[in-house]
Formats: sequence, structure tokens, C-alpha cells
Amino acid sequence: MQNRSRFTQSIFILLALIATCQAFAAGPKNVIVMIGDGMGYNHIAAGNLYDKGTTGTQSFEQFPVHLGMSTFPYGASYDPAKCWSDFSYASKAKYTDSAPAATAMSTGKKSYDGAIGFVGATSTTAERAKHTSEYAQESGRATGVITTVEFSHATPAGFSAHNKHRDNYSQIAREMLSESKLDLIMGCGHPAFDDDGKPVKISEKGSEFVGGVDTWDKLLNQSLPTVDCDGDGKTDPWTVIQTRKEFQDLGTATTVPKRLCGVPQVHTTLQASRSGKKQMAEPTPDAIEKNRRGGLSGDKNADAFVVPLTESVPTLAEMSQGALHFLSHTSKGQANGFFIMIEGGAIDWAAHGNLNGRLIEEDIDFFRAVDTVVAWVNANGGWENNLVIVTADHETGYLTGPNSGVGGAPVWNSLVNNGKGKMPGMEFHEKHHTNNLVALFANGPAETLQKFDACATGQDPVRGKYLDNTDIAKTIIGIFASKN
Ligand SMILES: [Zn+2]
Repeated sequence: MQNRSRFTQSIFILLALIATCQAFAAGPKNVIVMIGDGMGYNHIAAGNLYDKGTTGTQSFEQFPVHLGMSTFPYGASYDPAKCWSDFSYASKAKYTDSAPAATAMSTGKKSYDGAIGFVGATSTTAERAKHTSEYAQESGRATGVITTVEFSHATPAGFSAHNKHRDNYSQIAREMLSESKLDLIMGCGHPAFDDDGKPVKISEKGSEFVGGVDTWDKLLNQSLPTVDCDGDGKTDPWTVIQTRKEFQDLGTATTVPKRLCGVPQVHTTLQASRSGKKQMAEPTPDAIEKNRRGGLSGDKNADAFVVPLTESVPTLAEMSQGALHFLSHTSKGQANGFFIMIEGGAIDWAAHGNLNGRLIEEDIDFFRAVDTVVAWVNANGGWENNLVIVTADHETGYLTGPNSGVGGAPVWNSLVNNGKGKMPGMEFHEKHHTNNLVALFANGPAETLQKFDACATGQDPVRGKYLDNTDIAKTIIGIFASKN
């Protein structure tokens, strides 16, 4: 009798284990993380008002999961009561830099300012951490990072590289190209073009974002040392694309190379750093001070789309279409799926410069990239097979509606809607990042979405339920670490 009940008990345990494994195995094949750098709630609203003349109508705003997210770095915190009783809290409380924010979303661990794939209190005590992309590689998935700014910049680096400081662009670019197992890298930093897409003479300084002159030369002629990224015992060189047409053609290519590095013919950003001056709207001399992390000068302070876009470079939507097509057509992508991080990197740069027009342009470029991803998902397995997260790494510029601030009691006014195609009424209060919550939107398999909801244990009086940026990695790593 005793034996029999033990046997029954064992069967039950076995069945329970199988059920748990099946629940795990039902995760998405492909995981797409989209980050608007610096894109707070009001940055989304500003882009929306110009784009549609309303708020809440973007494709990602229709996703079933809609939460707040805290972004503070190692050793800091977010206090919802203080944030909404003291106007200065968000800008005075310890706020994050893009590097530890990306590292937190990628590794699940908090770190210090400047940290790329190293986690801890300071650079001297920090430990190397494993990225979501590395877990994805171990699960057999193809992996990629793409951005509208330099590919070695904080966010793409914070999802794929390991360096104690984000400013070591050359080292970071070399790690991504020569040591990582990424299948895809797309981003700016082209050493032979300026910020307007005009040819320039190649220099060592101008080549830092792509690893230096020697690395760039070797990358182009496929003699750069690389790793074996598909386990066949042979190292896998990069195929490089540069022209807008090459990016566009990738979106429908019948055959794809093994690894792809796309560097558009422009220096630091696709569009945000292009020349300005045409019909300057309210010039702000104090915005002229350039910030190495992406502040743009006041001569770029024209309304959105008044200064013509550079036509020789792709949009983020074109890059995203190419990237999804490429990853899903690699042998790894076909068999096991892929992980990609797509960044609208210059939303942050425009916000640092307090440049309303450039902010709207960067918002809309990012929104169209999300639309492209949503259309791709609908045509490629739907939401049972694909997880899409749209979020930000932090808020930049403390953007509000006009006349906000402290007048007796603190006020946070809404942006003013001046109609579709018109600049909304908006007001920046800082030139740096803040500790404000950002938004997180997700769509995908129901059981994965439930995990995000379960993580949202914080309650904000204005934004509602919120999770932490580390919860993104914790949830996605759970998917990759399970046996599909
Ligand atoms: Zn920034």
C-alpha cells in the first residue's frame, strides 16, 4: 500500500514537472525589444499629437500590456509619492545613464553610470554580466542590435558588449565585431561621411565608432578576425552594407549572408545631427552647448521636417524591415528564432538639446519602425510566436506641457494639441535625464504577457502599476533558458 502510494505520488510529481516544462516551452520563438532612448510619456504624446492629432493611437499603444517602468541605476530608487508632490524630485533624484539602463534591461542587474555589460556599484568592483543576447545565442537563436545612432553607442553596446565605460567606443566596436556572436549589427558611425551624409576624409578620430581605421578597413575587405557564430568550426566574417538601396533591398532579399553589418553613409545619427538653421523657431542660445552624449546645437531648432531629411540614409523602419527579414532567413533564425534590440537612439539627443522639431522627427521615425515590426509579426507567425516590447531606457529633458512647474503647488500640465502636422505646445525643464517612470508596452503569447503583469508590483499615483527595468531581462532570459 505504502509502495503503491509512493508510486502514485511519483507519477503526480512527474506529470506536474511535464506540465511546468510545457508551460515554459510555450514561449515566443522571436523576441523583439524596441527602445526609444529618452522617450518619456510626454515624448510619446508629443510625437502622437504631431503625427495623428490625438494621443493613444499608435500601434504599440494598442498592445495588451501597458505598464510603467522604473529606470534608476545601482543603489538608487524611485519614490512615487515624492515624484508627484515635489516637482524637482525627478530631476534631482539619482537618475540613470543609458549604459546601465541598457545593461539592466539586458542582464537583469543594476549598475553604475557608464557600465556596459558590467554590473555593480562602481567600475572597480563591477563584474561581467551575461546579456539576454548571449542567452539567446545559447538557445540557438540568431541575434542582432540596430540603432539610429552609432552602433557602438550605449544602448546597442549595453545589449551585446562588456566594457567598464561607455566612452571606449573603439574597444566596444571591436568587441562587437570581433568577439561577439551577433549575427547582425546596424547603426551609424561611418568614418567616410559627415552628419549630413557628405563624404569626408577618413581619420583615426572619425573612425572611433567603428573600431578605428584598421578595423574599418579589415571589416570592409573581410579580413577582420571574427568568431565562429554558428558552431561549424569556422570563423564567420561580416558582409557590410552601406547604401540606402542596400538596406531597402535587404527587406525582400531572396538569399541572405551569414552575418550582416549595416553602416549607413552618415557619421553620428541618421537624421538628428544633420545641419539646421532653416527657419529657426525660437533660437535658444543656451542649447548651443554640445554634449558628448548627444546634445544637439540650437541651430537645429527648426520645427519638425522644415529642414529636409538626408535622403541617402535609410529610415529606422527600413532598417528594421531589413533586419527582421535577415534574421528570420538565417539558418539559426529559421530553426530556432531570433532576438533583436531596435533603438530609436536620437530621441534622447533631441531632448538633451531641448529641440522640439528634432524630437518630433525622431519620435515619428521610431513610431514607423514599430508599425513595420507589427506588420512583420502579423505576416510571420503572429503574436503566439513573437514577443514585442516597446519601452524607453529613461526620460530625457523633463518634458511637460506649457506652464508646468512650481507656482505654489507643483503642476504638470498636458501638452497642447495644435492639430495633426502642427507643433504641439511643449516645455522642457532640464537638459539631462530624469528619474521619471517610462512606459512599457508588450504584445505576444498570453503566458509571457502575464509574467510582465506579475512583475508590476509598484503602484504610481499617475502612471499606475509599474515594474522595474531589470524585469525585462528576467522575463526574457526565462524564455531563452527554457528548452523549446
Ligand atoms: Zn541621454
